[in-house]
Amino acid sequence: MKTPICSFDARTGILCPKCDAKLKSGQLTDSDVEVSIKLTKVGEKNPEISKLNLVKAEQVDQDYLLTLEPGSLAPLRRDPAFQKTLQTILGGKVWLTEADTTDRKVLEDLFFPVRISNINTAWLPDGSKLTKVVIPGRKTERFPHDTAMIGKILQESRGIDLMVEFERT
Ligand SMILES: [Zn+2]
Repeated sequence: MKTPICSFDARTGILCPKCDAKLKSGQLTDSDVEVSIKLTKVGEKNPEISKLNLVKAEQVDQDYLLTLEPGSLAPLRRDPAFQKTLQTILGGKVWLTEADTTDRKVLEDLFFPVRISNINTAWLPDGSKLTKVVIPGRKTERFPHDTAMIGKILQESRGIDLMVEFERT
């Protein structure tokens, strides 16, 4: 298991001078530290969790956005219970994405398992950029996501202003 803080720190819950300096300089956040410690503790007994390679953890309201090492998300998606396990450990809804990826892939990760039919960019008169995601079909009660929350997560983590549109109304 890899976390943004050293594995020793994650196990003991005490930051070494190096990680402490990173926290003070803003290179690491309180969420990085909190999530690393919690996951490491559970990972000692849970082999699935111990395979996680966490790059970054962000908290948006009560939700968590976990950024994993590139290429590590797809295998985890095969186990639908995995995300629920993470949510139980952290005590909040968990969203997963990967580091070093495109905006499009981040959008697909956040909307998963909902398919996105189109993504386009609109420029507003004031010069700000709006990212428009088009979802096939119409919004039903079974639609699994709070799109306002996805918008907030994208705004806070990537500075993306999101607009969601359904193909049919
Ligand atoms: Zn450390």
